[in-house]
Amino acid sequence: MTSSMAERMTGRQTLVYGSETIEFSLSFSPRKRLSIAVEPNGSVIVKAPVDATVDAVQIQMRRRAGWIIRQRDRFAAFGPVMPPKRFVNGETHRYLGRQYRLRISQGDTASVKLVGRFFEITTPDRRSSSAVEKVLESWYRQHAQQFFETRLQHCLTSPCFRGLSPPTWSIRLMKRRWGSCTKEGRILLNLQLIQTSPSCIDYVITHELCHLIEHNHTAAFYHLLDRAMPDWRERKKTLETQHH
Ligand SMILES: [Zn+2]
Repeated sequence: MTSSMAERMTGRQTLVYGSETIEFSLSFSPRKRLSIAVEPNGSVIVKAPVDATVDAVQIQMRRRAGWIIRQRDRFAAFGPVMPPKRFVNGETHRYLGRQYRLRISQGDTASVKLVGRFFEITTPDRRSSSAVEKVLESWYRQHAQQFFETRLQHCLTSPCFRGLSPPTWSIRLMKRRWGSCTKEGRILLNLQLIQTSPSCIDYVITHELCHLIEHNHTAAFYHLLDRAMPDWRERKKTLETQHH
């Protein structure tokens, strides 16, 4: 092996694409085609055939740049970043993208009512923030159950999902994701989604419905998502910015 060959074995490379810079690690090995992987931590790993030139790799990377950026962004931001809450009088909480303030009062039975711009919460112990949190969370859960089901039925009417049988789904509290789809085709939706707007909820549901057809974030997946919901990028941006 010559020394120039050894230098080519691995290395950090940079690709500038529009306003984006993609850093990737490049290695050469006996293989027929270039392979590109985006790791959950955002790093991009590229394996090239032994006889490929760095220029040829750059050209191929440029062709896949849109896909790489989408993958990277998804890992970086597809998840809820909710400010911590104290569950006290006057605090702002969201429901379907709108803000409401807590008005907490003492009462025999726990209840939640939306009145004007307020969440009117009654609890046997109005000074216990964990009691307030519990009653509000169960209210969210109840409403999410109904609302998500309605939106799921609506999203399924897209011609892209014709012939698909309605999937089973359930609500989860997830730290890092708005939704997910299991290998068995069960859709999980984050309870915190009920705090975002219906348009963002539809986006997450449609994203997960696409996974019933295309399991991974391949180009085919994004083609399908583009057809099912042409404006998904704007919705994703809204979803990711409104909680920061
Ligand atoms: Zn996905």
